[in-house]
Amino acid sequence: MTATVSAPERREFKTELKQLLDLIVHSLYTKKEIFLRELISNAADAIDRARYEALTKPDLLGGDSDWKIRLIPDEKAGTLTVSDNGIGMAQDAIVENLGTIARSGTREFLERLRQAEAKDRPEMIGRFGVGFYASFMVADRVTVLSRPAGGGPADAVRWESDGQGEYTLEPAERATRGTDVILHLRDDAKEFLAGWRLREIVKHYSDFIEHPVVTEVEKETEGKKRTEEETLNSRQAIWLRAKAEIKEEEYQEFYRQVSKDHEDPLKTIHMVAEGTMEFRALVYLPTRKPFDFYWREPKAGLHLYVRRVLIMHECDELLPGWLRFVKGVVDSSDLPLNVSRELLQHNPVLARIRTALVTKVLKTLEELKTSEPESYLKFFREFGSVLKEGVSQDPANRERLAELLLVETTKQEAGKPTTLAEVLGRMPAEAKELPYLIGETRAQIEHSPYLEGHRARGEEVLLLTDPIDEFVMESLGEYKGKTLTAADRATSAGDEAAAEAAKKQAEAEGYTALLGHLAAKLPEVKEVRLTGRLTESAACLVADGGAMSAYMERLMQRLGRAGEAPPPAKRALELNPSHAAVQGLKRMYAANPEDPRIEVVAGLLHDQAVLAEGSKLKDPAGFARRLNDLLGRVVT
Ligand code: ADP
Ligand code: MG
Repeated sequence: MTATVSAPERREFKTELKQLLDLIVHSLYTKKEIFLRELISNAADAIDRARYEALTKPDLLGGDSDWKIRLIPDEKAGTLTVSDNGIGMAQDAIVENLGTIARSGTREFLERLRQAEAKDRPEMIGRFGVGFYASFMVADRVTVLSRPAGGGPADAVRWESDGQGEYTLEPAERATRGTDVILHLRDDAKEFLAGWRLREIVKHYSDFIEHPVVTEVEKETEGKKRTEEETLNSRQAIWLRAKAEIKEEEYQEFYRQVSKDHEDPLKTIHMVAEGTMEFRALVYLPTRKPFDFYWREPKAGLHLYVRRVLIMHECDELLPGWLRFVKGVVDSSDLPLNVSRELLQHNPVLARIRTALVTKVLKTLEELKTSEPESYLKFFREFGSVLKEGVSQDPANRERLAELLLVETTKQEAGKPTTLAEVLGRMPAEAKELPYLIGETRAQIEHSPYLEGHRARGEEVLLLTDPIDEFVMESLGEYKGKTLTAADRATSAGDEAAAEAAKKQAEAEGYTALLGHLAAKLPEVKEVRLTGRLTESAACLVADGGAMSAYMERLMQRLGRAGEAPPPAKRALELNPSHAAVQGLKRMYAANPEDPRIEVVAGLLHDQAVLAEGSKLKDPAGFARRLNDLLGRVVT
């Protein structure tokens, strides 16, 4: 909280904002007129909020619920005012909303902007969405006069800034509740004083705004001049109109309004449900994720209306979190207007709407995948990771989601992912397992020793590099009867049989004593055993079926969450009996079990296995010393 001003005061914007303002004003943004859309949208939001608050506090409005957004051009003063009778702002709210970093992620955004090439910047700024600050594209000074709902005439505040890094605040008076945004237009922006221009812009960008956007026009009847209020927008909620009458352009403009995205949507879904359940939904799949999608708190993308009245912004109950990238509105006629947040939580009406929406979105994605695979691939690159959350969170839709996955595999070129169904189609019918390997990058895992056996047998292995893939594979467990098995883990199913076979082989080939000896010298491993997994490499580390993989361990460490995870389980060191080094080790041991070189070689085998699984060595200097020592003997 800041102390309330009693006299004019000058304050500075937070640094990041200063830079942002500068970029917005000087960006090569051609469509200056969007400032009006942003201000009208803010005014409409403010009215929606006042109306919503008044549902529970009827006194708040003091009798004024004649909602209106006024555009007041003043030729003489060179100003355009956007005035509303919405919720208004007290001083704290003004400072918070207009004087500090309004959006999370601003700092990251600026950092990226700085690094981006100049030609990409305007588009990035467009995607960022500038809101109130768009005012400075047309005004060299902006005055905001606001009085909060519930306050008196003297509770108003005047905020003013030239967008150069400072603003002033002073106590003020305003006769009624609401906000005036007064733009002192630049010389090259005087076109925004003309009535026809305002009408044109409102029609184009804000036609579906529910509240009237009005301006005064001069009319002359029988030689007498008088002014008359003209409503510039048709105020028809686009989602209530007949689909056939809606132009593609109108759908797109509404998308921009509702999503704050400046690009066109990838898909528009306009649903009309009638009969047992009545609702309309106009929802969109975005083309790209917002620049701050992964930094900010996950937020729902749909707004809930009841018979055209906005009840809840970003309503969590309308779609599951794994579809949070879907943007749009839902309007229900089956809910009461004064429904509270608590009531929404376990509401059967909402639950039915949600099911219908999920089904529709999944169907749209399925169609996109079949009919426009290129577009689907782009979509999946943007939102695939979010969609995958559904695999673990939503058992009811797990199978449908599995069909929507795109995966890279050893038999596909990098960058050309395939579906699980396609992989299945290439597998021999009798195969029981569908192997996968998870790691940081494809380059890191595609030559991994864990793939040697599979490659030798001609088996296709999924190469997964998305942090969430570990959970996806575990939640799926199998795909159409094929068990999904991690190539760097002992399979839980085949565990015992495989262990038994390895033991028999060790005995038959005279390895048993050596393996026991090595295990004693290598306390960091759980066991040392023979393997059929490798064809070229000498050794690798293998986690138990149920244990955390090396990749998962690294991920937890990176996320700083190693403390929450169970302590890393020891892995088994598996040796390839057809490798010369392993055979040599056996001979050395047979000749002299106390030969000190055995320990050195065993240490090297272990350390290179750690490197091959993509992890870091605990003692890299020790490894280098042992390797150099070895080189010194070999290279003579
Ligand atoms: P956004 O609308 O995306 O939140 P803006 O930059 O457009 O971002 O506005 C910042 C904030 O300023 C709004 O969230 C709102 O709290 C406040 N605000 C802006 N205009 C008004 C207004 N006319 N009445 C009340 N509050 C407003
Ligand atoms: Mg806004």
